[in-house]
Amino acid sequence: MATAGKVIKCKAAVAWEPNKPLVIEEIEVAPPQANEVRIKIVATGVCHTDLYHLFEGMHKDGFPAVLGHEGAGIVESVGPGVTEFQPGDKVIPLFISQCKQCRFCKSPKTNQCEKGWAADRHDVMASAESRFTCKGKKVLQFMGTSTFSQYTVMNQMAVAKVDPAAPLDKVCLLGCGVCTGFGAAVNTAKVEPGSTCAVFGLGAVGLAAVMGCKAAGAKRIIAVDINPEKFEKAKVFGATEFVNPKDHNKPISQVLAEMTDGGVDYSLECVGNVGVMRSALESCVKGWGVSVLVGWTDMYDFAARPIQLIAGRTWKGSLFGGFKSKDGVPEMVKAYLDKKVKLDEFITHKMTLGEVNDAIELMKHGECIRTVLSVSPQ
Ligand code: NAD
Ligand code: ZN
Repeated sequence: MATAGKVIKCKAAVAWEPNKPLVIEEIEVAPPQANEVRIKIVATGVCHTDLYHLFEGMHKDGFPAVLGHEGAGIVESVGPGVTEFQPGDKVIPLFISQCKQCRFCKSPKTNQCEKGWAADRHDVMASAESRFTCKGKKVLQFMGTSTFSQYTVMNQMAVAKVDPAAPLDKVCLLGCGVCTGFGAAVNTAKVEPGSTCAVFGLGAVGLAAVMGCKAAGAKRIIAVDINPEKFEKAKVFGATEFVNPKDHNKPISQVLAEMTDGGVDYSLECVGNVGVMRSALESCVKGWGVSVLVGWTDMYDFAARPIQLIAGRTWKGSLFGGFKSKDGVPEMVKAYLDKKVKLDEFITHKMTLGEVNDAIELMKHGECIRTVLSVSPQ
């Protein structure tokens, strides 16, 4: 390939500083080094975790950065030692790696590989290394991925090769939101057939959790959101009932307890709010209720009364839906191609990389489920 071994100049949306619009810049992307793969990003979703970094976490050492972590693309070139990928392969960049060698990868109990950017830099949300520069400055790769760029460079342990038949402008959603919510229900909560579930927050992550609860055979799926416009979509994914906390003048846990004879079997928090995390826990039935934190926040402590857990509830968290990333993503792509999971229904808007700030505004105001940006022509 003509570009192999050379620096590529391309367009990327740079977050120069927190709480400011992204700026479309020309950046330089260095060639891949040992065990690295350079990827042409074709499409990317915009996830709330991008907004979290920009507007909420705002960690000063996490900027300048190229955001975006829910993308799909095509291998442009590979560095020394890469045998698993070739130029032209369709791939999904992974914000959580799977080195297959560390003690976490070797354990079937977790997907928390210790080799990726997240191992010691989860507060900054970017690794110390980056193959990007812009105007003479190093620009960080948010969550190690940076899919708001036409090209990115990733270690091969954080890249999944997917079916050549996969439409990249759809399967990009499996790079984060859909695997996260679906897996939180299926892998982390381990929802059982016939159970009653409550999902708090009906963005793409929460809707994917609804889809996961349904796939696992849940009988009742109660969808909870303060934006009632999300309820119609939740029905599409299998929600059976809807609750808007704003319609009630008592705690939502009490509302759910009355609806379910004491509480739900499983609750999933897909908002990223410590108050909602507590409500979700308290909405579970004593004895065996399981509550899973999926929403992302690292800014405040959370609280609950110990008796909630003493009474037999379990409080868990889920990163990327508990999927071991390199193994799980190609399987989810196959499930989509086999029509076993939905993706198209999450996409409410299509835009270009140049319109990324409009996409961010839509999400900020709750006006989209997922916007997919086309990044490079295929
Ligand atoms: P989103 O902004 O599209 O959806 C959030 C939803 O929560 C909205 O529908 C909003 O109306 C609703 N909401 C807000 N306050 C609420 C409240 N008090 N009660 C009930 N609903 C409320 O976001 P998303 O992209 O679906 O992401 C959801 C969360 O998941 C974010 O916190 C994101 O950072 C996190 N996330 C976590 C992981 C992970 O691996 N754990 C991965 C991806 C995203
Ligand atoms: Zn995400």
